[in-house]
Amino acid sequence: MRRLVPALLAAVALLAVDAFAAEKLKLLIVDGQNNHNWRATTPVLKAFLARTGRFAVEVATSPDRKGTAAAWDKFRPAFERFDVVLSNYNGQAWPKPVQAGLEKYIGGGGAMVIVHAANNAFPKWIEFNKMIGLGWRGNGYGNRITIDANGKTVLTPKGQGPGAGHGPQHPFSIVTRDRRHPVMQGIPAEWMHFRDELYHGQRGPALNMQILATAYSAKDKRGTSAHEPMVWWIPYGKGRVFTTVMGHGDYSMKCVGFQTIVGRGAEWAATGKVTLPVPRNFPTAQKTSVVTN
Ligand code: ZN
Repeated sequence: MRRLVPALLAAVALLAVDAFAAEKLKLLIVDGQNNHNWRATTPVLKAFLARTGRFAVEVATSPDRKGTAAAWDKFRPAFERFDVVLSNYNGQAWPKPVQAGLEKYIGGGGAMVIVHAANNAFPKWIEFNKMIGLGWRGNGYGNRITIDANGKTVLTPKGQGPGAGHGPQHPFSIVTRDRRHPVMQGIPAEWMHFRDELYHGQRGPALNMQILATAYSAKDKRGTSAHEPMVWWIPYGKGRVFTTVMGHGDYSMKCVGFQTIVGRGAEWAATGKVTLPVPRNFPTAQKTSVVTN
């Protein structure tokens, strides 16, 4: 009997570890092609998401542009095994079964997070464009959404106004537009994001967009003099798609504000709730804040 006790304790400890692991949300990062340095940014995404303790992170890497048909046949991310998918992908169209798999997964209640150039991908994939609302497209592609000085949403129709672009990278201020949304609760009304591209003139179907944060695109930074959407989400079927156009470089992703919003956004998209805290070193209206690793 006495000898059984350590074995029992070990079993209990194992169970405890399992129970803890079960609480983690399974998050899948998809990468493999991007006009950005995904080999540098995926490890940053993976590290800060894992560091929250909330996510068990896996990565699915597609074939590169020289990928053979056989290699693409093997690229079949099992979206349905995950609580949330994060796209760090901007490249060739995915095979039809992968596209269908993602549509089924999100439509059936899945969750996706889109980071920066992931919204440049797939201009011809209609359902994907509904999921992201706005993408890096020319002004003839679809509508544009901005916020005016009174906080009202402004729709600029297809064909009018600027298409997608950005000026030189710089630190810029992010303005919270929906402070009651779970992801944004406790986040300052305004805070300084670290060096990044400030996307403007994004285009798309722009349906059901819930804008959570914007940034002012200044003329002297070759911008549009408009408040451009930086963070938004869209319901798609029973699922949720959460987008931020922040995150150009690994250094941009080391911004505590970026990491907080992506972590909380992923948790919320997956569960409808946010438990991850806003850290004490969150950027302020005057000061950026970056992690060193
Ligand atoms: Zn970029």
